[in-house]
Amino acid sequence: MVKMYQRKIVLLGDPGVGKTSLVRRYIFDTFQKDYMTTLGVNFYVRTFEYPDVHVKLLIWDIAGQKSRRQIGLRYLQGASGALLTYDLTNPKTFANLPGWYEDLCKANKDSVPIVLVGTKLDLAQRHNTPLAFDMRFLGDTPLSKANVIFTSAKTDTNVDAAFNLIVQEIISGLLPLPDLSPRIHKEKSAKILFFVKKDDAWSQVAVNHIEKVGKKFALEVETIDAEKDPTIAKAYGVTALPTILIGGRQLVGIIQIAHLENILQQMLEKTERASTT
Ligand code: GDP
Ligand code: MG
Repeated sequence: MVKMYQRKIVLLGDPGVGKTSLVRRYIFDTFQKDYMTTLGVNFYVRTFEYPDVHVKLLIWDIAGQKSRRQIGLRYLQGASGALLTYDLTNPKTFANLPGWYEDLCKANKDSVPIVLVGTKLDLAQRHNTPLAFDMRFLGDTPLSKANVIFTSAKTDTNVDAAFNLIVQEIISGLLPLPDLSPRIHKEKSAKILFFVKKDDAWSQVAVNHIEKVGKKFALEVETIDAEKDPTIAKAYGVTALPTILIGGRQLVGIIQIAHLENILQQMLEKTERASTT
């Protein structure tokens, strides 16, 4: 019997940061579309099918340009994940993230997994603006421990990766087994493979973090330029950059070092368990 699940993901963030552009790029560019408009909300649907589990993800996007005040709790209630978006060229939209997060918490009893998504990376890079990302704005909240990913809907940079971060988190909780990639399932590796785009400034930041964390866990880190060696990336099933691969598990777009440490810890435990059973 196939188990069916439906889960809700909400897009949050100030008007104009690029929420609709992001979700449209994600849905229409890469997968079958299923789209309807209702009063106030656009829904986008994507279904993930595994042998025993089907997961239907409903992505909710605020229709039009609404501010925080205009968004009702209904929009936020029952969310299994949230993308908190802000415009990399507009620091004010970053400073407003704690407010959005507060609303999300108010509307949900349990804590909702989140990913911070900086948008319009192409603009930020074109104008050479320092990326609007100052941790002090986030204070000592779960926001400061969340994953952060920089995207451009325009150039299709990291859009899949951004959604994958939240989708993986939701789906992995529903699958009976860790979602090991079957092709490399058997590889017992104490090595981190890290796929990057070499000229990407963000990959550079991530490389530094990963090398530090690798040292801490006494893991060897091998960095692979996925654009230079596309066949290697393909063989490992890497579709978005940067991607970290350890013991057959994939992790896309991690930047926060504390979070990375946690995840590596979990991954290593799972890898260990898998190899002893
Ligand atoms: P929303 O109000 O958060 O849904 O934002 P929209 O998706 O409607 O985008 C607001 C404006 O930002 C539009 O003019 C978009 O074309 C523009 N925009 C969105 N994403 C990007 C991006 O990645 N790069 C650039 N250069 N512009 C973008
Ligand atoms: Mg919109």
